[in-house]
Amino acid sequence: MTKKTIRYNGNDVFAPLNFNLCPYEDIEFEETKNKIYDDFVEVFQENLVSLLKELGLKFIELKWFSPREYNYAGDSLDLIISIEDKSKLKTAILKNKNKIDELLAKNTSYDGYMSLAVFNVVEELKCLKENEGYKVDSIVLNVLLSPLNFNENFSITDSFINSPTCESCGNTLEDEEVNICQKCIDESSCTKCGKSGLFEDSICESCFRQRQFSFN
Ligand SMILES: [Zn+2]
Ligand SMILES: [Zn+2]
Repeated sequence: MTKKTIRYNGNDVFAPLNFNLCPYEDIEFEETKNKIYDDFVEVFQENLVSLLKELGLKFIELKWFSPREYNYAGDSLDLIISIEDKSKLKTAILKNKNKIDELLAKNTSYDGYMSLAVFNVVEELKCLKENEGYKVDSIVLNVLLSPLNFNENFSITDSFINSPTCESCGNTLEDEEVNICQKCIDESSCTKCGKSGLFEDSICESCFRQRQFSFN
């Protein structure tokens, strides 16, 4: 029987890291996502794979989730795993009982917040034992992965690839073919006759020709 894969929101299981790019402007989103992915893999994947193995879990892959609209969810670098060894997992959960219970208690205490999480380790282990389709709770998994010190070893902003900017004013360019923005072009003018437009050597073509002519 092939093991079922489980997908976790990276903002939950790699917390306090958060991969949501919505708050940021002036970055190349697709290139930045590729860079974050590559950097994250470089920093964590090896240790992540072996830590998961110790926990009785199997690393499958990391995969970006990107929302179509930013109303409800943000981007996240998701973790996909499968459960290989429930008794190893149980041991690991029990070893971290206090920390997990503390976090679970905090999570369920928000006013009016319907938590999908289990309430405590006892309940989690009951699910582990009884549920055919058992999935590790994401808060529990977050605690189990915390030895990797995500926040201390990684910052998404280090992987940002900035959008090209106008050579003159520094604003973000809409069109990647040019290196000066339209506003700067509109506002520039010939230093000799005042005609508007952007000219090489700050001088318009007719003034340039006139100057050449006067040299002769
Ligand atoms: Zn400009
Ligand atoms: Zn001119």
